[in-house]
Amino acid sequence: MFDLDKIVRQNIRELKAYESARSLLNLYDYTLLDSNESPFGSYNRYPDNNYPRLKKYLSKFLDTSRKNIFIGNGSNELIDLMFKIFCNPQKDSIFCFDPTYGIYETYAKIADVNIISEKLDDNHTIKKNSLNEHYKNENLKIIFLCSPNNPTGNIIDKKIIESVLSRFQGVVVVDEAYIDFCIEYSCIDLLEKYKNLIILRTMSKGLGLAGGRIGYALSSKNIINYFSKVCPPYNVSSLNEEAGIKCLKDPILIQKRIELIKNELATMETKLKKIKGIKKVYNSKANFILVKVQDPIGLFEFLVKNKILVRDRSNLVRDSLRLTVGTVPQNKLLLKTIEKYYE
Ligand code: PMP
Repeated sequence: MFDLDKIVRQNIRELKAYESARSLLNLYDYTLLDSNESPFGSYNRYPDNNYPRLKKYLSKFLDTSRKNIFIGNGSNELIDLMFKIFCNPQKDSIFCFDPTYGIYETYAKIADVNIISEKLDDNHTIKKNSLNEHYKNENLKIIFLCSPNNPTGNIIDKKIIESVLSRFQGVVVVDEAYIDFCIEYSCIDLLEKYKNLIILRTMSKGLGLAGGRIGYALSSKNIINYFSKVCPPYNVSSLNEEAGIKCLKDPILIQKRIELIKNELATMETKLKKIKGIKKVYNSKANFILVKVQDPIGLFEFLVKNKILVRDRSNLVRDSLRLTVGTVPQNKLLLKTIEKYYE
C-alpha cells in the first residue's frame, strides 16, 4: 500500500504552508493595507496564491476537478518542488530512464540526491524487468516516466505505466509535457485509481505559451497540499496568469494549432525518410523528431551557418539531431537545407 506520509520528508510533513492574510477572505470590499504593496498601478497587488481563475479555465480545459491541480512557474519548477517534498539530500534516490529529459538529473544533483538510471532499448522502449530490482529500494522516492519522451518522441505503453504504479510504493511522475499532441495516451484517467501518481503538464508546448511559464501538476488532494507547502508564495505572476487565461479561453484555436503541428510532423517524417544522409527517423508523438544522421556535427554546423538552429542530441543518442516542428515555410526551409548538405 502507498503511504504518502511515509514517503514525504519529515521536515516537510511538519511544515505549515505560507498563508497571506487574504487567503480566506472575499476581498472585493476590503481596504487592502496588509501586504506592503503600493496603492498605485495596475499590477500593484500580489496575485491570489491559489490562482482560482486560472484553475477554473484549466479544469474546464482538462475536464478535471480544480482540487487536483497545482500551478507552477513552468513544470520545471514543479520538478524542483518534488525533490523538496520527497527527497532527503545525501540519502534518497530518484530513478529515470536514459535517454530522457535532462532536468530530472540536474535537479537531483542540485538537491544532492542519488540518481538511478537504466538504458532504454534501441527502439527507446523500456526493457522488460528493468525496474524490478529497484522496487524494493526504500530510499528510492520518485520514478520519472516521460511520455512522450524527450528527446526520443515515443510514448510509454500505458500497461507498463500501470504496472509501475501498482508495484512501486513511492511516487511515480508521468511527465506529459508533450501530451497535447497525442492526448489519447494521457494517464489522466489513472489519477483516481493510483494515489502515488503525479502527472506533470505544461502550457509551453501544445498550448504555445512557453514564454508564459505555466506548468501544472495533477494529483491527489494530499499531494497537492504538499506542493502548496513547499512552493514559493506567488510563484506565477498576474501577467502570466492573464496570458494563460487568454490562451485557455480559445480552445478551438489551441486545437487548430495542434492539428497543424501534427500534420506537419507527419509530412516531415515522410520527407526526412527520403533524404539520403538521414539514417533513421524515430517515430514521434510529440512536436519534434529525432533523426539519426550521417555526420551530425557537419550537418548541425551547416544548419547554423544557414541560420537554422536544431538540437544536437548525439551525446544522448548516437549521431542524432532533434528537430522541432515549426511553421510550413520553416519546415520547408529546414528540409531544403538538409537536402543541400547531403547533395
Ligand atoms: N518536461 C519535459 C519533458 C520537457 O521537455 C520540458 C521542456 N523542455 C519540461 C518538462 C519543462 O517545461 P516548462 O518548464 O516550460 O513547463
